Amino acid sequence: MDARTGLPVVGMVGAGQLARMTHQAAIALGQSVRMLAETADDGAALVAADVVIGDYRLLDDLRAFAVGCDVVTFDHEHVPNDHIRALAAAGVVIHPGAEALRFAQDKEAMRVRMGELGIAGPAWASLAGDAAQLLEGFTAEQGWPVVLKAVRGGYDGRGVWLVHSLEEAQPVLDSGTPLLVEQAVPIARELAAVVARSPFGQGAAWPVVETVQQDGICVEVLAPAPDLDDETAETIEALALRIAAELGVVGVLAVELFETVDGDILVNELAMRPHNSGHWSIEGARTSQFEQHLRAVLDYPLGSTEPTAPVVVMANLLGGAPDVTPAGIDERVHHAMARWPGVKIHLYGKAFRPGRKVGHVTALGDDLVAVRAQARAAADYLANGGPES
Ligand code: ADP
Repeated sequence: MDARTGLPVVGMVGAGQLARMTHQAAIALGQSVRMLAETADDGAALVAADVVIGDYRLLDDLRAFAVGCDVVTFDHEHVPNDHIRALAAAGVVIHPGAEALRFAQDKEAMRVRMGELGIAGPAWASLAGDAAQLLEGFTAEQGWPVVLKAVRGGYDGRGVWLVHSLEEAQPVLDSGTPLLVEQAVPIARELAAVVARSPFGQGAAWPVVETVQQDGICVEVLAPAPDLDDETAETIEALALRIAAELGVVGVLAVELFETVDGDILVNELAMRPHNSGHWSIEGARTSQFEQHLRAVLDYPLGSTEPTAPVVVMANLLGGAPDVTPAGIDERVHHAMARWPGVKIHLYGKAFRPGRKVGHVTALGDDLVAVRAQARAAADYLANGGPES
């Protein structure tokens, strides 16, 4: 507890944009998130007062960081699971816990667990062992192409390879990275169900969203997912809440899903933290995913997830071509604000690099086509200095 305020101290491991936006929500709750940052220049470290510089891979750094925190949580899933267990054994309150987090850290463990729970996903197989032989066995049944995935450590499409032949797969197999293989699902579109769960067991779900992907990176989120019938939406929300409960997740859980061309819903992967597919909730829902994550890890009652507008679109700002430098962003913000006064701009305090998520915009309204066009235009202009209209 912070003796000055009488309010709890939440420690967040990682100081990227998720920590930055969680801190923003914490301020309104009278709190100040304590962060374990890699460098003083991390997006959240730039804006928070209680920043510890350290290495999340080192147990000693984590132990020192946890002292004085009422609860420790994460802005990424890269903290070694054994360290999380060791902290918990030493009495640190950590949410989500090591048992749950394993299923966001290890895609193979997640696939096995989903299978046990009878939850549909792509056909898959482990490639631990003679990978080439196992891959040949899998493709003899499933055919080509297939998707190879690093069991651990991937993000934004890194660690995912679509391959059409053993020859194409060989360099990935030779890399020594632990892998699994999945059937290449004929995807109609990608969806996400974001929910939160508290230690008390309370659950809350935001409307299911569509996540528009390009090259394995989410570029837009449409909330709610257009043309998703009510029954399917409810089934997916219930599925995500069930996964949260079965895995003992505390905090926000994002369930990434595929809607196949045949209309099947398959679980792709899990994230146990605020997630890109929930950024729209800052302006688009009564309670944002960041506030909800804090409420959940502190075992406060959860807030209403009711949308604030019929249609909400979030578009990521992805750094553009290398010649686009941060110089000029101030001017672009100025122009974007004038051109799209209703669009909310979020910048993460990061340097612009090609393909890097450096911010996002959110537009709200009644008409999907108009709202989406506005969000897209503002994001393109802010990220790349493209045409203003
Ligand atoms: P990451 O951990 O990098 O987010 P994902 O498992 O979410 O990796 O995969 C990234 C993207 O790759 C997905 O959003 C999807 O577009 C594509 N993808 C992943 N798995 C499959 C699959 N089995 N079939 C077809 N496309 C896939």
